Amino acid sequence: MKKPQLLWLNISVFTLTGLITLIGVPAYAFIHGFDGWQIAAMVIGIAICEISITAGYHRLWSHRSYEAHWLLRLALALGGTFATQNSILHWASDHRRHHRFVDDDQKDPYSAGRGFWYSHIGWMLRDYDTEHDTQYSNCRDLQQDAIVMWQHRHYMPLVLSLNFGIPVALGVWHGDILGMLLLAGVARLAISHHLTFFINSLAHIWGKQPYSDSNSSRDNSVLALLTMGEGYHNYHHSFQRDYRNGIRWWQFDPTKWLIRSMAWLGLAKNLYRTPSERIEACRAQMLLISTSRKLAQLPHADALILRLQQEYEKLLNRINEFSQAKKQWLEASKNSVLENYDLDELKTKVETLKTNFLQQRKNWLMLNQRIICS
Ligand SMILES: [Zn+2]
Ligand SMILES: [Zn+2]
Repeated sequence: MKKPQLLWLNISVFTLTGLITLIGVPAYAFIHGFDGWQIAAMVIGIAICEISITAGYHRLWSHRSYEAHWLLRLALALGGTFATQNSILHWASDHRRHHRFVDDDQKDPYSAGRGFWYSHIGWMLRDYDTEHDTQYSNCRDLQQDAIVMWQHRHYMPLVLSLNFGIPVALGVWHGDILGMLLLAGVARLAISHHLTFFINSLAHIWGKQPYSDSNSSRDNSVLALLTMGEGYHNYHHSFQRDYRNGIRWWQFDPTKWLIRSMAWLGLAKNLYRTPSERIEACRAQMLLISTSRKLAQLPHADALILRLQQEYEKLLNRINEFSQAKKQWLEASKNSVLENYDLDELKTKVETLKTNFLQQRKNWLMLNQRIICS
């Protein structure tokens, strides 16, 4: 079969920025040297590019996990343009297809099933996506956003002015234009590109699957450090509307912290969080699978398998009872359909069912721990 056409603009950008970063930057460092200001400009530039993609292109526009004030949307759109990963509309359209058809080698634009190279960068080097919907019909909502459409229409001039304008302006202020162009311009672009690309490649290959094994996505805390928190990719594929990727307080997710800080400042609202009992149900199912696998290797484990199954079903029942009561209470308090007395009674019921659910979760985890350690 004939290979799709090479995309020379993409190939040139990735090759040139890669080679200059690997050869030109060390050579300049050796001959001329860089100072702290130049290194700081590169590091801050990488952080701005990355977080504009994660908080803007990804969690805001692709997944609508929160709503943002126009000032924040403008800042994220400009930061995302500086990152040079195509327009918001194009990026979000690809990304929505990635979630919808994940791991489908024909329909997922960067399917991990086609290997590390393809999902990392190969998919952008040839015109594989000949049937790309030029009307962006899976992003009708984004077409109502004036900032998205303005960025889409003026993408190329914006990319060129930001990518040359910012490093040159910094170079004039600092006194070494070429040095700033190399670090804050080229190296910043190449490094931020590959860090983001790791989410499509490594985050579908390397790590654990605590929430689902129905697709190739993985949770990986090392990748989270490099990708502004997006390394918790198995969680993200399971609960894509959640504004968080790292849900525990100790998990490194600066994108989540930024979104929450913006909400405190009044620049973001309606942050969507997945109900904790839904998350627990997924975790329990995956734990059941892995513990059952271990038990299957042991002789005479029938009684333990039965016990495990019973405790799992008991946990699911507790989760359902709690979840239904919570829903009932939330609806009743929103629509004020009940007297205060009845509402209080319903609230007490929710709290009791929550305690039951948490107790059963504890029993369930202890049982699994005992089996795994035995
Ligand atoms: Zn993915
Ligand atoms: Zn996503």
